Amino acid sequence: MRDLSEIATVGVVGAGTMGNGIAQVAATAGYDVVMRDIEPEFVENGFDAIESSLSRLADKGALDEDPGAIRDRIAGTTDLADLADADLVVEAALEDMEVKRDVFADLEDVTDDDVVLATNTSTLSITTIASATDREELVVGLHFMNPVPIMTGVEVVTGEKTAPEATDFAHAFAEDLGKETWESDDKPGFVTNRVLMPWINEGIRAYDEGVASKEDMDKGMKLGTNVPMGPLELADHIGLDICLDASETLHEELGDRYKPAYLLKRKVAAGDLGKKTGRGFYEY
Ligand code: NAD
Repeated sequence: MRDLSEIATVGVVGAGTMGNGIAQVAATAGYDVVMRDIEPEFVENGFDAIESSLSRLADKGALDEDPGAIRDRIAGTTDLADLADADLVVEAALEDMEVKRDVFADLEDVTDDDVVLATNTSTLSITTIASATDREELVVGLHFMNPVPIMTGVEVVTGEKTAPEATDFAHAFAEDLGKETWESDDKPGFVTNRVLMPWINEGIRAYDEGVASKEDMDKGMKLGTNVPMGPLELADHIGLDICLDASETLHEELGDRYKPAYLLKRKVAAGDLGKKTGRGFYEY
């Protein structure tokens, strides 16, 4: 396994909400990054998000370097073979076990045998993703929070076969990006989503049952429990499709107390996925 000091190039799979954020923070920390998505348009969208985030951070004086120099350390591609020189890969593709297992099987072929393959999954089993490879000891969960450039926490998740060295490496890499870490065993939803998803679903159910308007639901939870966003705002921010996928995994693994709210399913079916589509519980 490679030492942190040997890591020069980080491969990122997926240029969506999380992938572009991970690419940005890795480049900001000085790494060269290769960011891969399946369509050129998705790669371009990822770069647009990175450029606007870097420019906001530069305006606030939060960068030590010119945003253009950070941006130039990121290469975009649709060809997975371009990750051949990566010293570490972080996968942030869709929250779908089949997609992730296919990606990991391909990454195993493309990358060197001693490269750590990390996944940003919110809820899926690290052990099941790892079993798509012959490198299970080097597969680890590196669960960044959204928005990645702003949120300081990263959850490190250890699968059944993850080597202690790979876990230590994941903590050290995240810390090198300026993040703080904690560790979770590979159980559905890990620490964060196991507790967060029922909270969001209960907020949606309570709103749907007329307990309060959406504004009062969010305001009550913010002022009443000192959280920065209420459940409906936060669901829109995460993406309602991502919340539904996560809730369905938890429901399947942990039973009825994790059943997704009916209104969450209806909004996803309608294509109203939150901020990313311009409409969820609120309009953007
Ligand atoms: P997203 O829909 O914004 O982006 C996913 C991207 O992956 C899309 O651009 C898609 O085209 C791309 N993709 C799909 N298949 C691919 C493949 N085979 N190779 C490369 N790219 C591929 O989703 P997101 O919100 O960025 O979530 C990504 C992962 O991060 C998921 O596993 C999700 O559960 C997890 N996550 C999300 C959040 C959040 O708040 N959104 C937080 C933590 C973790």
